[in-house]
Amino acid sequence: MALVVQKYGGTSMGSIERIRNVARRVARTYDEGNEMIVVVSAMSGETNKLVALCNEMCEFPSEREYDVMVATGEQVSIALLAMCLESMGYKAKSYMGFQVPIITDSAFSKARIEEIDGTRIREDLKKGTIVVVAGFQGIDRDGNLTTLGRGGSDTSAVAVAAGLNADVCEIYTDVDGIYTTDPRIVPEASKMDKVSYDEMLEMASLGSKVLQIRSVEFAKKYGVVVHVRSSFNDNPGTLVTKEDADMEAVLVSGITHDKNEAKISVMRVPDKPGIAAQLFSPLSEANITVDMIIQNVSHEGFTDLTFTVPRTDFKKALKIVEDAAARVGAAGVDSNETIAKVSIVGVGMRSHSGVASKMFAALSAEGINIQMISTSEIKVSCVIDDKYTELAVRVLHSAFGLAKG
Ligand code: ADP
Ligand code: ASP
Ligand code: MG
Repeated sequence: MALVVQKYGGTSMGSIERIRNVARRVARTYDEGNEMIVVVSAMSGETNKLVALCNEMCEFPSEREYDVMVATGEQVSIALLAMCLESMGYKAKSYMGFQVPIITDSAFSKARIEEIDGTRIREDLKKGTIVVVAGFQGIDRDGNLTTLGRGGSDTSAVAVAAGLNADVCEIYTDVDGIYTTDPRIVPEASKMDKVSYDEMLEMASLGSKVLQIRSVEFAKKYGVVVHVRSSFNDNPGTLVTKEDADMEAVLVSGITHDKNEAKISVMRVPDKPGIAAQLFSPLSEANITVDMIIQNVSHEGFTDLTFTVPRTDFKKALKIVEDAAARVGAAGVDSNETIAKVSIVGVGMRSHSGVASKMFAALSAEGINIQMISTSEIKVSCVIDDKYTELAVRVLHSAFGLAKG
C-alpha cells in the first residue's frame, strides 16, 4: 500500500462532469489498494472572478480580506469532490487549509507554507477515508486565512506530499506533461520525459505556469519526485526529479515567456551609496519582488535605474517608487506595462558558450528589439515589447531545434 497525493487543477475540476471524472480516477487509484490525499483547485475561472470582484470593490483591496475572498473558490470544489466520492460509496472528507491545518507566514496573497500538521489527515487515512484538501490556502499563526499566490495549489500538493511522506505526488492538469514550451503557443513543442528541479525552477520562475515555482522549491528541498500528467488520459507525463547525465547533454531544454511583467525607470538618480537601498527597500517591505535591474553608466553624478516588477503589483509598486524617487531627488519616473520576458533555459548551457548570442540573433532576425537582458548559469532572459511574445517564443523554439522530431 502506498500513500498517493494527487492534485487536480482548475480545468480538470471545471464542471460537474469533470469533477465526476476526477472522482472516478481517484477511486481507481484507491481501489488499487492505496491511501489517497487529493488536493484540488477552484473550478476554472472562479478565482479570476473572485479577484475581479475584489478589484471592483476598491482600487487597493485590504490584503487580509482579499485572501478571505479568493480562498472561497476551493471551498466549493473540495465539497463537490468529497460528496461525489461519497455518493459513489467511498468514505471521503474535505478539509479547508485551516482545518488541516496548513500553517503559513502572514504574507497575504503570497504566503509561504511553514508547517503542516498531518495528525487529522493520518487518522482519516487509517480509517480508509479519502482526504480532499483545498489547495492554494492556509492559516497564519494569528488565525488569519492566507493564500499562496496564483497557481498555489501545486505548492499545497507538494507540501502535503513532503509533510506526510507520500510515496507518489501526481499533478494532474490539462496538458500531457511539461513541454519544451507552452504547447498552446507552439503546437510542435515536445513533451519531456523528465526535467531537473533546477531547470523546472527556472522555467517556473520565468513564466511557465504549468507548476508554481514554490512547488518546485519544495520538491527539490524534500526530494519529492513530481509526476505532471493529464487528467483526461492515461499517457505517461513528465517527471520533475534530480538532475542526471542525459539532461546535461541538452543545451537548451525549454523556452518560457512571462507577460506578468512591468518596467519602471527612475530617471537622473544621484549616483551615490545608499540610493538603491532607499529605492528598493520600500518595495521589499511591501512584499513586491523586483526582478531584472539595470543601472546605466553614470553621467555627471547622475544615473538612470530600470527594473521590472510583476504586472499584478505594478500600480502599488509605481506609487511606492514615485514617493521614494521624490525622496532621493530623482528627476522623475517612467513606466511601461506592455512588456514581456522571453527566456531560454537549460542545464547544458553551463558548459557551452554562444547560446546567448544565438538567442539575440534569432530575435533580431525578426526585428524584435531587446530592452533588457539578464542571465544566470542556466538561463538567458530578454525583455521585449509584449506584442511580440508569441512570435519570439516560436522563433526561439525553432532556432534551438526543440520541435518534435
Ligand atoms: P492547472 O489549472 O491544472 O493548474 P495551469 O493552467 O495552471 O493548469 O497550467 C497548465 C497550463 O500551463 C497548460 O495548459 C499550458 O498552456 C501552460 N504551460 C505553459 N508552459 C508550459 C510548458 N512548458 N509545458 C506544459 N504546459 C505549459
Ligand atoms: N485557484 C487558484 C488560482 O487560480 C490556485 C490554483 O489554481 O492553483 O490561482
Ligand atoms: Mg496551475
